[in-house]
Amino acid sequence: MTGGRPLDAAETAAAMRAVRLWQQKRPADEVRCPRCAAGGLSIVDRSARPFAEWYKLDCAACGLAHTLGVAMAPPAHD
Ligand SMILES: [Zn+2]
Repeated sequence: MTGGRPLDAAETAAAMRAVRLWQQKRPADEVRCPRCAAGGLSIVDRSARPFAEWYKLDCAACGLAHTLGVAMAPPAHD
């Protein structure tokens, strides 16, 4: 398995929620896989601040391997 299909919109939203819970240092069983909802999702922060946030998500239960990119507020231009 190579990670399967890309996340759909609902799964992407679930992935964002998982990252936010993880950032709040919630218990691992609350940080759920956006695809199969198993607890204990692995998240690694690969962010390149202040330009973008990148999180590597891996689920041992279903084999999900996804990098979630979150664009940060762009610099102001004239
Ligand atoms: Zn999963």
